[in-house]
Amino acid sequence: MTTLSRRELLLTSAALAVASRLAPAAEARAPWHQRVLRWGQTNLTEIDPGRIDIEFWRAHWKRTRVQGVVINAGGIAAFYPTKIPFHHRASGLGDRDLFGELVRVAREDDLAVFARMDSNRAHEDFHRAHPDWFAHDADGKPLVVTGLYVACVNGPYYREYLPAVLREIVTNYRPDGVTDNNWNGPQRHQPCYCANCEQSFRARAGAALPRRVDWDDPVYREWILWNYARRLEIWDEFNRVTRDAGGPDCLWVGMMSGSLNYQARVFRDDREVFRRTELIMLDHQRRFDDEGFAHNAETGLRLRSVGGWDKLIPESMAMYHLGEHNFRLATKPTAEARLWVESGFAGGIQPWWHHLGAVQEDRRMFATAEPLWRWHEKHERYLVGRMPIAGVGLLWSQRNMDFFGRDDAGALVDDPWNGMSQALVRARIPAVPVHVDDIERITRELELKLLVLPNLAALSDAQAAAIQQFVKAGGSLLATGMSSLCDEAGRVRPDLALSPLLGASVPGEHSWRDPARRATQARAWSQTYLRLPRESARRHESLRGFADTDLLAFGGTLEPLTASVAPAVSFVPALPLSPPEDVWMRQPETGIPGLICSEHGPARVAYLPADLDRRFARDQLPDHGDLLAALVRWCLRGELPLELDAPGLIDCRPWRTRGGDTVVHLLNLNNANAWRTPVQEFVPVGPLRLRVRAGEVSRAVSLVNEARLPMKRRGNWYEVEIPRIVDHEVVVFSR
Ligand SMILES: [Zn+2]
Repeated sequence: MTTLSRRELLLTSAALAVASRLAPAAEARAPWHQRVLRWGQTNLTEIDPGRIDIEFWRAHWKRTRVQGVVINAGGIAAFYPTKIPFHHRASGLGDRDLFGELVRVAREDDLAVFARMDSNRAHEDFHRAHPDWFAHDADGKPLVVTGLYVACVNGPYYREYLPAVLREIVTNYRPDGVTDNNWNGPQRHQPCYCANCEQSFRARAGAALPRRVDWDDPVYREWILWNYARRLEIWDEFNRVTRDAGGPDCLWVGMMSGSLNYQARVFRDDREVFRRTELIMLDHQRRFDDEGFAHNAETGLRLRSVGGWDKLIPESMAMYHLGEHNFRLATKPTAEARLWVESGFAGGIQPWWHHLGAVQEDRRMFATAEPLWRWHEKHERYLVGRMPIAGVGLLWSQRNMDFFGRDDAGALVDDPWNGMSQALVRARIPAVPVHVDDIERITRELELKLLVLPNLAALSDAQAAAIQQFVKAGGSLLATGMSSLCDEAGRVRPDLALSPLLGASVPGEHSWRDPARRATQARAWSQTYLRLPRESARRHESLRGFADTDLLAFGGTLEPLTASVAPAVSFVPALPLSPPEDVWMRQPETGIPGLICSEHGPARVAYLPADLDRRFARDQLPDHGDLLAALVRWCLRGELPLELDAPGLIDCRPWRTRGGDTVVHLLNLNNANAWRTPVQEFVPVGPLRLRVRAGEVSRAVSLVNEARLPMKRRGNWYEVEIPRIVDHEVVVFSR
C-alpha cells in the first residue's frame, strides 16, 4: 500500500468534501427528520437558568457541526413560563423563558429543535390536587420514584394534562418536534390499580386487573398486551396533538431504549413503534459489559430492519461516564466514548452528544465529540441511504422476550442472543437482526442465506411457517436450545414447531416443558462436556477444527430428545469438581444429542440443543465461539461477503449505498477492556488485508486515514491492504 501524495490526498479530500456538500443540497426539500444528521443536547438542571452561558453552547454547537439540538421544555420541570396549573417551573427559572431563548438562538443558527419532555413524574402538590391521576398499587399507595409521583397512563394526566402541555409548547415555540425522556408511565413491576385502569382493563379483557404475576394465566398475559396497546395509543394521540398544533412534520417521538429486555419491561413495542414513526430518538448511551461495543452497531441494524432502511436513528451518546457506577459530571474516558460512537456509525446510527447540566467543571468532555462529529459531516454521504450486506439473519421478537423470557429473560433470551451475536462478530461474519414477522421481506431484500434462532422459543404458527418456507426455498437454518418449543403466548407446544427440520422431538416428560425448571437450568452451570465421535470418518465436517480432541467443555444441562438423525456431538453429564480423586466421568457416553446436522435439498440445518450461545456469552470459551462460527460457515457453504486478515477482535459491518458503493466499517476492538468498561487507551492494529465480494469496482478509499488504497482483483473479490487502524476505519469500494 502506498500513501497518497499530498496532492492526491488534497484531491481526494476535495472530492469527498464536494460530494458531502452536494448530498444534503440534493435533499434540501426533504423534511427535517430526513435531513438532520447530527444532534447535541445539554440536558438542563433546575439551577441552570441561573448559570447557563448560552454563547458557550452556541460555539459548541458550531464546533461540533450539529444540525439540531434537543432543548428542555417541560414535564418534571418547565423551562418556560408555563400557564398550565401544576406544571412545575424549574426552581431557578424565575420569570425567565430559557427554553424560548434557546429556541431563538438555535433558529438563528439554522438548527432543528426538539423540545424535550420528561413526562412520567410530578411533584407532591400535583398529586395532592389530583391523586386519581397518579399510579397506585393494590393497597392504594401512590407509586413514588426519586421523590416524585408516577402518573397513570390511563387517567387525565396522559389524556388531558400532557396534551395541553404539548399544545402550549408547540403553539408558542414551534419546535420541529417533541421528544420525551420517559413517556411510558409505570413499568411492568409497577402495576397500577387506580379506577381508570380497572375500568379500561375490564372493558378490554372482561376481567379484573391481575393481582399477581402469573405468566400461565391468560388474564395476566392480556394485561401485558393491554399495556403495550395503551403505549401505542399514547404514541398516536401525542402525534395527533403535535401535528395538529405544529403541522404535519411536527413529530412526537418519545424516546426508545436499545435494550429489548428493557423495552419489554416498559411496554414499548420496538416493531410497532418503529413502523409508525418517521424518526427514532434512541436513548442508548453506553456499553454494558455483557453486550460489548458491537451491540450499538447491532441495535442500529435491528431497529432499521423493522422501521425502514432510510429512517434516521439519532442516538443519545453520553459524554459523561456511565458504567457499573455512573458519574454524570465526570468525562467518559475518550477511547470508550469514541468506540461507542463509532460502533453506532457502523450500525447506521446518527450521533447526538449529551451533557448533563449547562456548566461542566470536567472540561475534557467537550473535546470528545468535535472530531467525530466533523468526520461524520465530511463523510455523511457514505453513512446514510444504504442497506447492510449480510448473508445471516438473527431472528428476534419482543413477544419471545415477554412470554418466553418472562422474569428470566436475561438468562433465557439475552444471553443466547448475545453469545451468538458475539461469536459472529468474533468470526467476522456479518449478520442482521430480523424480526420474525419480517422474514419474507428481509430475506428477500437482503438475499439472506441463513436464519439463526438463538433460543427463540416463542413462535406463532405463521412465524414457524415462514421459517419453514425459507428453508423450503433453499435457505439454511441454525437453531439453538429451546427454539420453536412454545407458541406466541409462551405455552409449550406438543412438540417443537420446527421438529421435522431440526431432526428432534421433545418427549412428554422433559424439563423444558416446565417453565420453572427450564429457567433454573438456564441460570445454572455444572461441569458437563460434549463428546465428539472418536473415529474421524464419523465426524461431521463442521467439527474439523477440533481434530485433536474428543471432548469439548460445555457447562449446560441436556435431557434426552428423540432424534431422527444421529447426533454430531452428544452430552456428557456433570461430574464432581473435587476432590481430585473423584473427578471422572460416571457416564462417558449418553447419546443425548448436543448437535444435530441435516440437509434438506440445498438447505442445511444445524440444531444445537446444547446452548453454546448462552455458554459463550457467560464463559467466553473460544471452543464455543469457534463451533458456533463453524456451524454458520457450514450452513452458508463458506459463502461470506468479506474476509479480513488481521489478529484479534475487529467488528466488520459492510453496507451498500444506493449509488452502488460498498462501505465497510472496521471497528478495532482489540483492547484489554473490550468486554469490560471502560476502554482506557487504543491499541492500534495493522497492516490488515481486507477482501470484499462486489460487482464492478474501480477504486478503494479509506475515510479515516484518507488514502487511496491500491487494489488487487480476483474474480469478484477485491483486496486492499490497510496499513493501520487505531480505533476505526471505513473503506469505500466505488464503481
Ligand atoms: Zn392507573
